[in-house]
Amino acid sequence: MKPIIETKTNVKHQVVCIPGDGIGPEVVESARSIISAAGVSIDWHEALAGKQAFESGIVSGVPKETLELLETTKVALKGPLETPIGHGGKSANVTLRKHFETFANVRPVRELPGIKTPYAGRGINLVVVRENVEDLYAGIEHTQTPDVAQCLKLISTKGCEKISRFAFGLAKAEQRGRVHVATKANIMKQTEGMMKRVFEKVSDEYPDIDGQHILIDNCAHQLVIRPEQFEVIVTTNMNGDIISDLTSGLVGGLGLAPSANIGHEVAVFEAVHGSAPDIAGQDKANPIAIILSSLMMLQHLGEWQAAARIRAALDAVLNSDVGWPADISAGRQVLGTAAFTAEIIEQLDEQVKTEAKAQEPWPIPERSLEVVSNYPEKEEVVGIDVFVSFDGSVSVLSELLDEATQGTFYSLKMISNRGTMVYPESGANPDCVDHWRCRFVLSEPIPKLKVRLIEPLLWRIEGNGITWMHLEKLHRFDGEDAFTKAQGEN
Ligand code: NAP
Repeated sequence: MKPIIETKTNVKHQVVCIPGDGIGPEVVESARSIISAAGVSIDWHEALAGKQAFESGIVSGVPKETLELLETTKVALKGPLETPIGHGGKSANVTLRKHFETFANVRPVRELPGIKTPYAGRGINLVVVRENVEDLYAGIEHTQTPDVAQCLKLISTKGCEKISRFAFGLAKAEQRGRVHVATKANIMKQTEGMMKRVFEKVSDEYPDIDGQHILIDNCAHQLVIRPEQFEVIVTTNMNGDIISDLTSGLVGGLGLAPSANIGHEVAVFEAVHGSAPDIAGQDKANPIAIILSSLMMLQHLGEWQAAARIRAALDAVLNSDVGWPADISAGRQVLGTAAFTAEIIEQLDEQVKTEAKAQEPWPIPERSLEVVSNYPEKEEVVGIDVFVSFDGSVSVLSELLDEATQGTFYSLKMISNRGTMVYPESGANPDCVDHWRCRFVLSEPIPKLKVRLIEPLLWRIEGNGITWMHLEKLHRFDGEDAFTKAQGEN
């Protein structure tokens, strides 16, 4: 079959190369030498990030020059980056992800020839598409009382729509017939539920692709029981982080797992594994993960033919008995990083006739300039949740709060402790901590809740010796409550 996208071997590509830390330089060099031997012309712009950057005082772990280079080339091949203990607040990987808003993390998982795993021969061939920016990974955390910490799980319709659209586009480009969205919508109805609802809406635009919902815990179970049933799994950030490590394990582990971080303008290709400092500089690292990542990069650059040829050379080496990297040798002949790379390069000549499978590039959803994508026709506020710190019993707390509502527009509806209703009494007897959610409802819903209507209640709460930490308005959009009830609340 002729490739839809013509190979571009006469084009000189501009790519940033971040060798990274630990085994990074060894494996990146392996991928680069194979690409070069395959005749792809690339101007590599070597750039710094990670350990050395942190140690030179760059708290983000990524120097300005590296960001500027990447803004120009739009494509990078990156080795693993370390966040040395005692340097920097954030990881350099997160800096790159946030700076370029690489919202889609793509992790293909395909059985490789010659790799011994309990799943060998099952034909696993799936892609995990993980939302890469939002969720608990927005990194918004507060320790609200000395005893209780909170992490905000932020999920947006925009984020869900982009990642769902990307997943369906990828499925279509790769002629895959099914996309699962994996969520915990049964428990987190607002956040994970949003992912499910938006996915189902986007799914309607792709009638030829079977869009299905699966709960993330069942997805993990099914992946272990019958992984071959999955083609594409799209999911929120934390689910994706965990599930994609699980799927890597199915086909042989971290040394084989490639990934791409796709943004509207910039794409960064990297192995899933870290810098493995214990084997750095010893010619022991398995370069397959970064080689497979670099093949995704070549496809992104339109070099379908070269990618197919390298893939065929890698498969041929794995199918032969010349040797395997140590982590996947399973007692067979071991080859070091350099020798394994040389075997692939030698095989390239045998694979010149390999034809690329016809495939479209992954369509990347347009960046929307609108900050808001959802305008409800009717917006109301029905009350507020005030989160307070209180060292005492719920009966004392409820009396003090009830008294605080006197002469205001509010009544105390409910108090919960870590999500379980403790007032009014429901029979539940949780092991309480000093962090209480106190739900006050307005005598009637109002369109906007202004500070002057909140302040008197907060003054009175404080006046009764209770420390409030933060509050949340209880919205109702188009007649639907935009908040969840506590366990036990009517
Ligand atoms: P890791 O570097 O992935 O290494 C865990 C173990 O997996 C290694 O000790 C090694 O096992 C094996 N391994 C991983 N990649 C391998 C390869 N290509 N070839 C052969 N064996 C391989 O995870 P970690 O020890 O948790 O993290 C080390 C550092 O890397 C940390 O600073 C972490 O923050 C960073 N990290 C960076 C990235 C990234 O940049 N994307 C991702 C993850 C971690 P053996 O002990 O059996 O040799």
